[in-house]
Amino acid sequence: MTTDEDAPPAPTPAPVVSTGPFCAACGELAAVNWARRPTADEVTEVIKTELLRREQLLLLADPQLPAPDFGPLPTGDGMTRTVYACVDHAISLDGASLIHACTCTAPNPADLPDCDCTPEVPDPEPMDDPLVARMVPAHWTTGA
Ligand SMILES: [Zn+2]
Ligand SMILES: [Zn+2]
Repeated sequence: MTTDEDAPPAPTPAPVVSTGPFCAACGELAAVNWARRPTADEVTEVIKTELLRREQLLLLADPQLPAPDFGPLPTGDGMTRTVYACVDHAISLDGASLIHACTCTAPNPADLPDCDCTPEVPDPEPMDDPLVARMVPAHWTTGA
């Protein structure tokens, strides 16, 4: 007959390690996110990374083949950065559906639930594209 004392001790659960993303205002685990335009420094960083990548590919390229054509360098056009916030520092849902300026300081507790920029309205989803239209159930689209 076994008793509880004979049972092996219950394994202690592994500590929960959170890898984020974290709120930009307080560092708590993020609950929501929205997009903003990249700053000039962030665009420069992306271009630097791309130049480095091209340099590596040229080093590894077969010299007997034509040099790879990389096309134009990236610009900030269409590029966004994701901003994260916790429940307490979330901006409004309407605000989160827009693309914020690179200078936007949200989530800034002084401006919540708004922000200090004039966000732009993102381009509508390309629902006219037949490939995209096939991937989304008709009853999931709005305005139809
Ligand atoms: Zn927060
Ligand atoms: Zn903003």
